[in-house]
Amino acid sequence: MDRQQRPKILVVDDTPTNIQVLAEILGQEYEIFFALNGPEGLAMAEAQQPDIILLDIMMPKMDGFEVCLKLKKNPLTKNIPVIFITALNMEEDEARGLELGAVDYITKPIRPSVVRARVKNHVELKRYRDYLENISMKDGLTGVPNRRRMDEYLEQEWKRSKRKNKPISLLMLDIDHFKLYNDNYGHSEGDECLKKVASAIEESLSRPADMTARFGGEEFVCILPETDESGAKLIAQRVQENIKKMSIPHEYSPVDSLITLSIGIATTIPDESASQQELLKNADQMLYQAKNSGRNQIQSASI
Ligand code: GH3
Ligand code: MG
Ligand code: MG
Repeated sequence: MDRQQRPKILVVDDTPTNIQVLAEILGQEYEIFFALNGPEGLAMAEAQQPDIILLDIMMPKMDGFEVCLKLKKNPLTKNIPVIFITALNMEEDEARGLELGAVDYITKPIRPSVVRARVKNHVELKRYRDYLENISMKDGLTGVPNRRRMDEYLEQEWKRSKRKNKPISLLMLDIDHFKLYNDNYGHSEGDECLKKVASAIEESLSRPADMTARFGGEEFVCILPETDESGAKLIAQRVQENIKKMSIPHEYSPVDSLITLSIGIATTIPDESASQQELLKNADQMLYQAKNSGRNQIQSASI
């Protein structure tokens, strides 16, 4: 297996020989990271995003139960499976560990083949869960985030902007006369066009927090946190330039001989009086205005 692709295991144990033993058992198939105490383990889990964490219980400063609790409370680490590997073999300890959200509990002295088999099973399950989560958030045709993911992200960024008292902008983008495109070039050409448009929109965004999503049919949305109206207009112009550069012919469009987009922009600093639904509604109204004023243009509003 490619070294780069080997699943990552984080071992948190205050006894170096225990780490060494596990590294010998698992080092062939996995990339091993280790931490000698709880706080270090938490930091490493966040930074490395391992596929699984093997966690000792009896450690100074912070015991394994507390580490597990903290891992499960942190959105960045809560989906990483935890297996306790411990000398504590009382029924109540095992129950407590599993109730804290660990997927498994292995008592020392360990039996290498059993550890190997259990780790393998849990890593496979984790990878499959990641895969399912990933595809449930993506639009199947264009590969950009889907409506469900967009709703989730908009809510998150709406709240963040409200806390920080910063503006948030939303672009609603719709292909002009796309029905005529489909009717004349065929549905599969239409699908190809949607893919190109999605990538042109994505390429126009520059900040990691910006998101392009497929809103439905031939409509897309961009969420632009910490962006005011003039910043959003710049992005919208960049989208139109990038679409133009792609030169996708649309000889049946009454607007232009190439594919064009109409874009509605809404910007606001969130407060109690409005919701993210209103931001969407406003962007949609601005899009409607862009369509009504002749298409292939940008209309914006601050609310
Ligand atoms: P307007 O300029 O007013 O937006 O006109 P329009 O023709 O683009 O808008 P309308 O809403 O009337 O038609 C949208 C068309 O988009 C309908 C359908 O043919 C096409 N469409 C929607 N989803 C898909 C898709 O997934 N694949 C393909 N190929 N076409 C799609
Ligand atoms: Mg359209
Ligand atoms: Mg439409």
